[in-house]
Amino acid sequence: MDAKAYLCPNCNANRTKFRLIRRSVQQIQKDAFNGVVVEQGLEEPYISEQGEKEVECLACHYVGYEMMFIKAAERDPRERTVVEGRI
Ligand SMILES: [Zn+2]
Repeated sequence: MDAKAYLCPNCNANRTKFRLIRRSVQQIQKDAFNGVVVEQGLEEPYISEQGEKEVECLACHYVGYEMMFIKAAERDPRERTVVEGRI
């Protein structure tokens, strides 16, 4: 897994609390009369041109592709605060 920082591109405040949304696709065949699924394929990840994952910001509930959250974090990187240890 790659560790890429996220920043919500909507509220520009949340960097820590998110929900990952992964869509999947599954081919099915139904009975035209009673709607029963008579045949179903394997469930596989749905990958759009924008990527596989969408992310929801748990602060403002904005939903967008993962790339937008990564790009927002790259534009505005967080400086890690160095806490000086006592001697
Ligand atoms: Zn947000």
